[in-house]
Amino acid sequence: MDDSIGDETRCPCGSGDVFDSCCGPILAGTRRAPTAEALMRSRYTAFRVGDVDHLNVSWHPDTRPVDLSIDPEISFIRLIVHDTTGGGPFDTTGRVHFTAVYRTATGERGTQEENSTFTRLDGRWVYVDAT
Ligand SMILES: [Zn+2]
Repeated sequence: MDDSIGDETRCPCGSGDVFDSCCGPILAGTRRAPTAEALMRSRYTAFRVGDVDHLNVSWHPDTRPVDLSIDPEISFIRLIVHDTTGGGPFDTTGRVHFTAVYRTATGERGTQEENSTFTRLDGRWVYVDAT
């Protein structure tokens, strides 16, 4: 966990909320993501702060990589959520279309656009895969 992220800091996911009332409790496991988008944002934040544990627990066991790691060469800078389909409190599946902007170790900027699929597993949202 990155110590520079304090309770009063804006959440890295870009929601505009402070970390402690946004992705913070989801990463800490004290609150479940209420929507697929909230889970997706928390996973982006996990990439930002290097929380591999959260990436693991929020990944469907069927699609989760055996040896999950975070690429240290890539620093995510910004998250743009384009739209979501389903993924609400009463849905069992959801899809989130987003673009993550990152910078490589050599200073180049890149973007990763993804349509991520989420499902509920034992009542909580998990990431399945992306196209
Ligand atoms: Zn957040």
